[in-house]
Amino acid sequence: MKKMVHFIHTILILTMMTSCAQQDKDLHTLESSLTFLTSDECMGRSTGTEGNQLAASYIADQYKTFELDTYNDQYYHHYKQSTYDPATATQELTVFYKDGTQKSYVYGLDFLGSMIEDTSVKTQITTDIHDLDDKIIIVDEHTPAFNFRQSNAVGRFKKTDVLFKSNHVRSDDKFSVEITNTLYDDLMSKDVDYVTYKDNVSTEEKEVNNVIGILKGKDSTHALVLSAHFDHVGFAGDTIFRGAIDNASGVAILLELAERLKKRSLEEPFDMDIVFAALNGEEYGLMGSKAFVPSIKEHYHFLYNINMDCIGKKDGGDLAVNSQREELLLNKKLQEALFNHFSESDIPVTDQFYGLSDHYSFNRMNVPGVTIGQGEVFGENDTTSIHTPEDTVDIVDYDYMNRVVDVLYDFIIHHDGNMFRRHEDVSLSVTGARWIERNLLHPLTA
Ligand SMILES: [Zn+2]
Repeated sequence: MKKMVHFIHTILILTMMTSCAQQDKDLHTLESSLTFLTSDECMGRSTGTEGNQLAASYIADQYKTFELDTYNDQYYHHYKQSTYDPATATQELTVFYKDGTQKSYVYGLDFLGSMIEDTSVKTQITTDIHDLDDKIIIVDEHTPAFNFRQSNAVGRFKKTDVLFKSNHVRSDDKFSVEITNTLYDDLMSKDVDYVTYKDNVSTEEKEVNNVIGILKGKDSTHALVLSAHFDHVGFAGDTIFRGAIDNASGVAILLELAERLKKRSLEEPFDMDIVFAALNGEEYGLMGSKAFVPSIKEHYHFLYNINMDCIGKKDGGDLAVNSQREELLLNKKLQEALFNHFSESDIPVTDQFYGLSDHYSFNRMNVPGVTIGQGEVFGENDTTSIHTPEDTVDIVDYDYMNRVVDVLYDFIIHHDGNMFRRHEDVSLSVTGARWIERNLLHPLTA
C-alpha cells in the first residue's frame, strides 16, 4: 500500500511537471494578448478608431504566426457600419453658481452621458420629482421611484460610484448623465443657478474589419466557427475603458485555441474546418457578426458557432452556456453538449440566461450558436465592472482562463465532425426575433 502510494505520487509529480511547463507557457500567451489589447495604444478598441485597427492587426499577425489559412485571400473581412469618433464625441458640462462663480467638470472623470445627437441645454436642476418641468433631475439613492421617460424633465443626472459607458448613439428628447462624487457633492452643497450641458457626438459610416483565420479540415463543407468580439467602448476624455474581461479575455482564449488546435491538426487533420472569427462592432449592436454570418454561410453547407464573451473575471461567477429562450430548439443539442462537457470538468457551469452576444447573429440565420461567458459579468447586479474603467487586467484570473481553454480544446477534439443540428425543424419565429431585438439587443449588448 505504502509503495503504491509512493508510485502514484511519483506519477503525479511527473504529470504535474509536464503540465506546469505547458501551463506556464499558456498563461504567458494569454497574458501577452490581454496586455496588448488593453494597452494605451489600443485606446479601448472602439470600432473605427486607430486603436481598434491596431488590435485587428495584432490578431491578424497572430493568425499568420500560427499559419492559419486566410479568408477570401486575407485575414480581414471588410464591412461598413456607422461609427462615432471618441476623440471628438465629447460632452461639456458647466455649473453656474448663484455666487457668480462657474465650474466646468471633466468629461470621463466627473461625468459621462449616454450619447444623444444634437443635445444642448441650459436649464435649472431639481431634486423634487414634483417639480420637473424642463429641468434636470438629480437622482440618487433617496430619489423616490418615478417615470423619467414620461416626465417633463429634460434630463437626468444620476449619482454613481463608477462610470458606465456604452457605444450606442441615439436620438432622443431626453438625456441621461452619470455623475461621480465631486460633481454630485457640489450640486448638493452649493446654490446652483443653472447648468449647461452639450453632447458633441456625431456618426459616420466607415469601412471596418472582422479578423478571420481558417484551419482546414478533411471536409471543408462543414465548419465550427469559434468567435469572440475584439472591439470595446473606447475612451472618454482621458479615461480609457480597457475592456480586459469584455472582451480581450475572449480574444485571448480564441488565439490560444487557434495556436493549440493548429498544432494538433499537424499530427492529424480535423474532420471539418475550424473558423476563427475575431468580430468587430459588437458594442454597437452585433454589427460585425451581422455582416460576417451571411458571408461565411456562403462558404459552408453546415456551420455551428461557439462564441466567447467575458471569461476570466476573478469572482465572476459560474460559466454560463448562453442562449435565447426562443431558440432552445435550434441550440438545444449544442448547449447540452457544452453544458455536460463543462459539468464534467472543474469549471462550475450554469445554464441560466444572462445576455446577448454575437451568437445571436448566427441564430437569426438558423445556425446553432451559443455564447459562453461568466454569469456575474453579464448580470445587472452591482458586482459588474464591465464597461467601466475598472475592467482592467487587475481583475483577470489567468489560471481560470487557461482551464477554460483546456476544456474547450478537449470539447472541440471530442466533438470533431459533430454538427449539433437543430433539435426539431422549428426556426425562430418572426415575432420572437422582433421581441429579442426590441427588448434585449440594445440594452444588454455587453
Ligand atoms: Zn462583450
